[in-house]
Amino acid sequence: MVQGERLWRRLMELGEIGKQLSGGVTRLSFTAEERRAKDLVVSYMREAGLAVHEDAAGNVIGRKEGTNREASVVLIGSHLDSVYNGGRFDGPLGVLAGIEVVQSMNEQGVKTHHPIEVVAFTDEEGARFRFGMIGSRAMAGTLPPEALDYRDANGISVAEAMRWAGGDPNRLHEAARKRGTVKAYVELHIEQGRVLEEAGLPVGIVTGIAGLIWVKFTIEGKAEHAGATPMSLRRDPLAAQLPTSWL
Ligand SMILES: [Zn+2]
Repeated sequence: MVQGERLWRRLMELGEIGKQLSGGVTRLSFTAEERRAKDLVVSYMREAGLAVHEDAAGNVIGRKEGTNREASVVLIGSHLDSVYNGGRFDGPLGVLAGIEVVQSMNEQGVKTHHPIEVVAFTDEEGARFRFGMIGSRAMAGTLPPEALDYRDANGISVAEAMRWAGGDPNRLHEAARKRGTVKAYVELHIEQGRVLEEAGLPVGIVTGIAGLIWVKFTIEGKAEHAGATPMSLRRDPLAAQLPTSWL
């Protein structure tokens, strides 16, 4: 059995970091708030008896050794960054539930053949750089090098922000896991719609996920006098129709 109370206490404690007057949480990636959240999670991982390290992308990893140290690893995790005014469970639930699971196993002397690693992935949401999943892409070895040059609203690049937060953009290849070294990945996530709630179901198994695409485009028009130009003679960008293949 896990300790629900301990998990709840940690969720509430972590939810204080980046808390807004609105009640939401703003914890953008590679900021002081996200750093504090990671440091707190590191302390929980140590309490759980895990060996903790942070990879070059800033993913925080807590490892419970398996009876076979060479066996492929089971990953449990989620993210600690948020969107603007996000919820306190989105991300932290998956990380803290993972810690609770392995802490309970350690306390009850449960051993596993495979090592288990709890991971707090860096920058899942993409709210700061409008890109996202930087940590998990690095771990999968699929982070495109040009992503390091993407900039936030203040002109700070991913590489600069990563360095500020203690990561190393020049060593990202070290964060990549080799094919065959990961046995499975498990993530507990709060429902972000109302389907389960409406159906009265406590939990669901995800079989697919929305594939986000970020597109930037410019629609050019022509200024005309507001009163005197009939719509048929205007080229108003606001009224432009996008080709249906784009939608
Ligand atoms: Zn999430």
